[in-house]
Amino acid sequence: MITTNFHTHTTFCDGKDTPEEMVLAAINKGFSALGFSGHAFFVLDAEISMDAQRQRLYRAEILRLREKYKNEIEIYLGIEQDTWSPPLEYKYDYVIASAHNLLKNGVYCPVDNSAEMMQDNLLRQWGGDQDAYAEDYFAECWHLFDKIPQGDVIGHIDLITKYDELFSIRRSEKYFSMAKSTVEHLAKYGKPFEINTGAIGRGYRTSPYPCAELLFAIKKAGGRIVINSDCHNKDFLDCGFDDAVALARDCGFQSHTILTKDGWREVALP
Ligand SMILES: [Zn+2]
Ligand SMILES: [Zn+2]
Repeated sequence: MITTNFHTHTTFCDGKDTPEEMVLAAINKGFSALGFSGHAFFVLDAEISMDAQRQRLYRAEILRLREKYKNEIEIYLGIEQDTWSPPLEYKYDYVIASAHNLLKNGVYCPVDNSAEMMQDNLLRQWGGDQDAYAEDYFAECWHLFDKIPQGDVIGHIDLITKYDELFSIRRSEKYFSMAKSTVEHLAKYGKPFEINTGAIGRGYRTSPYPCAELLFAIKKAGGRIVINSDCHNKDFLDCGFDDAVALARDCGFQSHTILTKDGWREVALP
C-alpha cells in the first residue's frame, strides 16, 4: 500500500477541504507522510491560486499542522508552480513543476480547465490541428526546468490527455515522438515524473496518467516516478493508488520516490 502523497490541494487554492481536514484524513488512512502543494499564483486563476500574501497564510497553517501532528504523520510544505507563475518568494520543502497553460497568439490557453475549453482553444488558436497543439504543449514541458529551475517533481507530464474519456487528443506517431523526446530530455534532470491519479478522483478518467507508452519511455530513459493523487478532496487521498502501482510495475518500475526527512528517496513499490 502506498501511504504517502505529495500532491495535495486545499481551500487555500482550488481544493474542497482545509489542510487540517486533509491531515486528519491522511492519519485516518494510516499515511506516513502528506505533502501539501497549493497552486502558486497564475494570473488567470487569481481566485484559486496563491499570491505572496496567501502563501504567507498557507505556509503558517501547514507549519502549524506539522508541529501539531508531528507524532502522527510527517507533513511537508510544498507548492505547485506553473510554468507561467511568477518566481517564488519563499522557500518550500519541494516544488512540483507543472505546465497547465499555453500562451498562443497572445492568449493564455489552460489545457486542464475543462474539455469544452480545451476544444474551444484548440479550434480557435490551433485551427483544430491536434498535432500542433500537442507540439506546443510538449514544447512548454520541454522547458519545465528552464522556467522552474528549483522544481523537484515533474507534474502530470501528459496533462493534455486529462479529458481523454470525454474528448481525446489523437495520439499520432508525431504525438508520441514529441512526447518521448520531451520525456528523454527531462529525464536527464534526475527528478521524478509523477504518476498522477487526480483525474480519477475528480471523475474525469478511470486510469492514471501518464499512459503506459510514456511510462515505458520514462523507464527506458532512466527516469524515476513518484505516485501522487493530486488530491482536491480528502475522500480521494489514495484514490487509484493500486492502479498506479500496477501500471508502474507493468512498465518495469520496481521502486517509487518519496520525500523523507533526508530528502527524496527511492523505496520499493508495494
Ligand atoms: Zn497540476
Ligand atoms: Zn495539482
